Amino acid sequence: MSRQPLWRRVDFLPKITSFKPAGVPLAQLREIRISVEEAEAIRLKDLEGLEQEECAQKMNVSRPTFARILLSARQKMADALLNGKAIRIEGGNYELTKRSFRCGNGHEWDVPFEVMIKKPPELCPTCNTANIMTLWPWRSGLGMAVQGRQFRGGRNYRRGGD
Ligand SMILES: [Zn+2]
Repeated sequence: MSRQPLWRRVDFLPKITSFKPAGVPLAQLREIRISVEEAEAIRLKDLEGLEQEECAQKMNVSRPTFARILLSARQKMADALLNGKAIRIEGGNYELTKRSFRCGNGHEWDVPFEVMIKKPPELCPTCNTANIMTLWPWRSGLGMAVQGRQFRGGRNYRRGGD
């Protein structure tokens, strides 16, 4: 049975995920949610200036799918900008192209997407300790699908703003 790709691949997570218009009382504020893959589509096409075909390949989706994601993202951003709505970037159907890990003895390593979906790491490849944690993504508040177990203990995730 062949495995259909379910996840859009994302190479980047924005550190700041929430924006709001100045001078609008919180109670009156309406919020637009932009998914992480929509933000990635904007980044690849509009910031990096790649061709749609290239963007689609990077995100592991068809070109029409990429075009749909991009259009949705642009419409939401236009709506927020022109109608004074807040933006929150979160959630979606995506998988990061890699995860970075660190063990309790300070070794760091990356695990690519292809390996991650088959077998998330349980031991440090250098010293074999099971005391490992996720180093990147630095936080889990973006609605990502965590494959395998959550890593507990030593949660020294970078919180941004440093
Ligand atoms: Zn180690």
